[in-house]
Amino acid sequence: MFKKILVANRGEIALRIQRACRELGIRAVMVYSEADRDAKYVKLADEAVCIGPAPAALSYLNMPAIISAAEVTDAEAIHPGYGFLSENADFAERVEKSGFQFIGPTADSIRLMGDKVSAKQAMIRAGVPCVPGSDGALPDDPAEIRRIAKSIGYPVIIKAAGGGGGRGMRVVHTEAALVNAVQMTKAEAGAAFGNPAVYMEKFLQNPRHIEIQILADKYKNAVYLGERDCSMQRRHQKVIEEAPAPDIPRRLIERIGERCVAAVKKIGYRGAGTFEFLYENGEFYFIEMNTRVQVEHPVTELITGIDIVRTQIMVAAGAKLPFTQRQIQFRGHAIECRINAEDPYRFMPSPGRVTMWHAPGGPGVRVDSHVYTNYFVPPNYDSMIGKIIVHGDTREQAIARMQTALLETVVEGIQTNVPMHRELLVDARFMAGGTNIHYLEEWLEQRSGIRQAR
Ligand code: ADP
Repeated sequence: MFKKILVANRGEIALRIQRACRELGIRAVMVYSEADRDAKYVKLADEAVCIGPAPAALSYLNMPAIISAAEVTDAEAIHPGYGFLSENADFAERVEKSGFQFIGPTADSIRLMGDKVSAKQAMIRAGVPCVPGSDGALPDDPAEIRRIAKSIGYPVIIKAAGGGGGRGMRVVHTEAALVNAVQMTKAEAGAAFGNPAVYMEKFLQNPRHIEIQILADKYKNAVYLGERDCSMQRRHQKVIEEAPAPDIPRRLIERIGERCVAAVKKIGYRGAGTFEFLYENGEFYFIEMNTRVQVEHPVTELITGIDIVRTQIMVAAGAKLPFTQRQIQFRGHAIECRINAEDPYRFMPSPGRVTMWHAPGGPGVRVDSHVYTNYFVPPNYDSMIGKIIVHGDTREQAIARMQTALLETVVEGIQTNVPMHRELLVDARFMAGGTNIHYLEEWLEQRSGIRQAR
């Protein structure tokens, strides 16, 4: 096992990884930007290294600074968390070339999955069902683009091969708008992701977002840890996640889970990963794979009792997966609400000093957050400041626990989306379960209409 790991991230996930290291008796080196100097996990760290000024490009994305920090502290491995450099194949390669273990898949796996066109082609070869679409990247010829769209059938969605974070996508409803939309998406993709390649998919009208968590070791052992329903999204960003997904027959989950495990073995994937699918009319359609730990991993941890971050570290150190598929059991229901520092109605970021932080508690309640009273939320990074996760025997009990937890939560000094979560957790459609990916946006639109009418 490693003696020392460097955590190349910030915020709640940095704290989460620090906790996993402590439990395993591993020293965790925390890196921080000047804006995160006062973070609790930095103060409580075994060791901490400042890697640069507040802008992420100069600190959390600064590969030489992070690798030097690992060198001067004698770390053996680097955990990249999520976001930042976690899905950067060049970083994974540089980490390993510098003699450290990257806690994640190989650079080749990250590269294959990071390009959505090559990922989709690999999944088709591995027998994972995909959204019907263009065979690879779109050509330049407008007539050919029109022909492809016609064969798929409108509406279609144009997506950047290098896209991520819900950006670089455009829905097209008519042939008249097609060629212009392709050109615009290409130009944006080139500027934002350094890769102008785009591809086309059928735009599914009312799907749910269902994803499968997998874990694999270096010896081609792999398992799936069931699914998560992440359909509650605003601007393609997840807001509430839960496991298991309401009203999906278990045999369908087992079938798709087994397909994912077969694909993992086929591409020689190792570590934790997530296959994201759209689910409509009883069918799964692969959209992308995330080659890292995800924000919403705790809901899976709560229903399986498996510590995903701990397992990531163990398999990176060369351990075999400590369980087989048959040993994995699912118990109860878990829900996660992402707490963002933002206006709960207009969604403008709301950084600043937290003058009061009171986290909820009680049976089945978990809070993953680095925030404390008097913590300053820097304006430089993502607005997510923590997650409340609950577990219950049934979905009804989990909802009741989340309602209670949200009522107990007090955050003062900044605005958060807690009031929105309180409203959503008593919404009849959410409570019934199985809403599609458009539901939250429709709900928000209705809610702002009601507010304006008042
Ligand atoms: P990103 O990497 O930016 O998150 P994804 O490919 O995972 O991009 O898509 C993000 C979201 O965009 C999905 O969760 C879904 O809401 C929507 N989306 C993507 N592809 C389609 C599609 N073919 N039809 C309908 N919605 C889609």
